[in-house]
Amino acid sequence: MSRGPYQSYFDTLKRKSTQQSNSEHQPVKIGQADSSNFNNQAVDILQEISNKLDRLGKTGHNPKVPDVVDTPRTEGTIDLAIINGKVVLPDVGVIETNIYIRDGVVCSLGTHPPADVKEVIDASNRYVMPGIIDPHVHLGLFAPLKTELETETKAALFGGVTTIGCYFGGPESHFKVFPSIMEDIQSYSHTDVIPHLVIGSDEQKSEIVDYTKHFGITSFKIYMNGIPGLIPDVDDAFILDVMDEMKRSGKECILCSHTENRYLVRRAFEKIKREKGDSADIRDWTDTHPDIAEEEAVIRLAYLAENAKVPIYMVHISSKAAIDRLRQIKPYNRYVNVETTSPYLSITRDSSMGNTIKMEPPFRDDKDLEALWEGVEDGLVDTIGTDNVTLTRAEKNIDASIWDTIPGYSALETHL
Ligand SMILES: [Zn+2]
Repeated sequence: MSRGPYQSYFDTLKRKSTQQSNSEHQPVKIGQADSSNFNNQAVDILQEISNKLDRLGKTGHNPKVPDVVDTPRTEGTIDLAIINGKVVLPDVGVIETNIYIRDGVVCSLGTHPPADVKEVIDASNRYVMPGIIDPHVHLGLFAPLKTELETETKAALFGGVTTIGCYFGGPESHFKVFPSIMEDIQSYSHTDVIPHLVIGSDEQKSEIVDYTKHFGITSFKIYMNGIPGLIPDVDDAFILDVMDEMKRSGKECILCSHTENRYLVRRAFEKIKREKGDSADIRDWTDTHPDIAEEEAVIRLAYLAENAKVPIYMVHISSKAAIDRLRQIKPYNRYVNVETTSPYLSITRDSSMGNTIKMEPPFRDDKDLEALWEGVEDGLVDTIGTDNVTLTRAEKNIDASIWDTIPGYSALETHL
């Protein structure tokens, strides 16, 4: 029979008790209420408890659960009770319990129904989970921001996403555009929004400290590989400058990064375009962004972060090569955080969706998808976003050649 964690706890107690008894050299008479006898009784009780708890452990119950639930602080009126659901508790697991809500806030979990409940929702056979955060979203690229804040965040709620991390770019100083973006968010968004600012120009770089002061923003983004025609790529000197400015702000900033080596992407891109021309398809597109480009950039950025002592957040990691490399780096580099996306966990280049799935970085192969899932399961991957870009099929230009199709897709509503 295997020995669970409580059994070893019991062993420790028993050893201590035995040592104590021996050291006293006193004969213990049965029924006599001396301290040694008390210890033995306590050990017997603990043994029984430990056996029970270990059995619970084997049936999949998490021993942490009793600490979390069944502490109903439900005096007074409860506005809403969600009962009989399979409740997903982060860091605990899935448990069947009731949720009690007062004044819009979860005030208690537990199986003892309170006396006074205004509204009850029966969630039998359903999962109940906290609002999902999608940390990686782009809005307002092909339609006005106001419009997409209205439509896309509503779609997000239908899919269980209640908070989005949204990237705002453009060539100008963020002081020129961001104040009106904040107004639009307040007026039109149905979800909470965490804004991240793209830093692509010297002017934006020089204003980082002021962005933290005036907007309270501490999350910035660079594109190591840029997006041709849209977002400039940046070199290592620029990245170190940005990291220095983030430190100079005195705030706890984090640098998000599209992490690909621009030279290796360009080399592969030119080669495939030359060889395949207009006959290139979505499978060839993957070869224009080889995994070596992501792997190299991951290594380099992790090194720069470690050197500058600035936390980094590598968005949309897509390849097994990068995951394998991060598995070596991350235990020794506390500045590295890793994101992948729900589409990268679901789709490969062998999908039948053709140009619809043109993306940067591209969709890859089964081995990459498997490695990403392993990273999620063992905690190497910290977060999962979508990299949502809302655009119609016409805007994406999917009937054109792979070279003229626009990268990106909308995935916010289907994230979960
Ligand atoms: Zn993105």
